[in-house]
Formats: sequence, C-alpha cells, structure tokens
Amino acid sequence: MMNRKEYIRNYQRKWIRARRTKWIMENGPCKTCGSNEDLQVDHINPNEKEFNVQYLWSRVKKIRDKELLKCQVLCSKCHLVKTKKDLSSLASGPKPQRRKYTKQQYFHALDLFYKQKISARKIASMLQIPRGTVSVWMYRDDYSDWIKEYNSEIA
Ligand SMILES: [Zn+2]
Repeated sequence: MMNRKEYIRNYQRKWIRARRTKWIMENGPCKTCGSNEDLQVDHINPNEKEFNVQYLWSRVKKIRDKELLKCQVLCSKCHLVKTKKDLSSLASGPKPQRRKYTKQQYFHALDLFYKQKISARKIASMLQIPRGTVSVWMYRDDYSDWIKEYNSEIA
C-alpha cells in the first residue's frame, strides 16, 4: 500500500520525468555526434548557469524556459567529454566573479594609485569604496584579468 506522501512523490517524479523527456525529444539528438542514446541536458556555457538542470523541471515555466535557452542536448558520452573540457577551462581561465564594482572604477583607482601616487586610504574615501577592497586591488592579484588589461593599456 502506498501512503499519500509516497503517492504524491511518485506523481511528481512522473511529471518531472515527462517534462525532461519531452524537452530532450524536442531538442535532440546529441548536438555533437547525432546519437539518440542516453540523452542528457547540458549547459552550453557553464558560466551562465543559474539553476542546476536536475532542479529545473519542477520550476515554473518562465524560469524553465529562460534557463533551457542556455542548454543543449548531448549524449552521455559527449556530455562527459564536454564537462571535462568545461572544468579544465574553468580551472585555467580567469575566475568568473560577481563583481561589485565596475572596471572603470577599478581602472580609475589604479590610475590614482600608480600615476598620481595617492594612497589607498585616500582613494577609498575619494571613490567611496571600502579601504579593504582598494587594498586588494592595489596589493593582490585577484582581479588578474583586469590587471592584465590595465597593464596593456598603459604599456
Ligand atoms: Zn554524442
């Protein structure tokens, strides 16, 4: 005998699976090799991922559709190959960061520091940016892709 909770869970699992299958059927076969076997959903650019696909199917249509625009169908073999490639490029490339300040602010601060020799403390108060943030910009390499750009502009 199935209790009510199990019944609901089963029911949900069924329609979640049905949604996933439908999307895969509409968007398959595998974008890389054309296979129809063991198809899966892949985020084309993992940096743009807002939801994990496994949690997506139960969300409202608006969220689902928006996220699925960033996805493609791959077979399990091609998916594995791509995931490995994604992970190695994430590890070697610049870190994706959610930045609080713009590149203009960063460059401006660096200009004041390096060209006008203004102290980090004074820059912090001039630009209304926390002192700690300015220190990180000046003394540490966390913004490595920006510092490269900055250096190439003044070179
Ligand atoms: Zn494939």
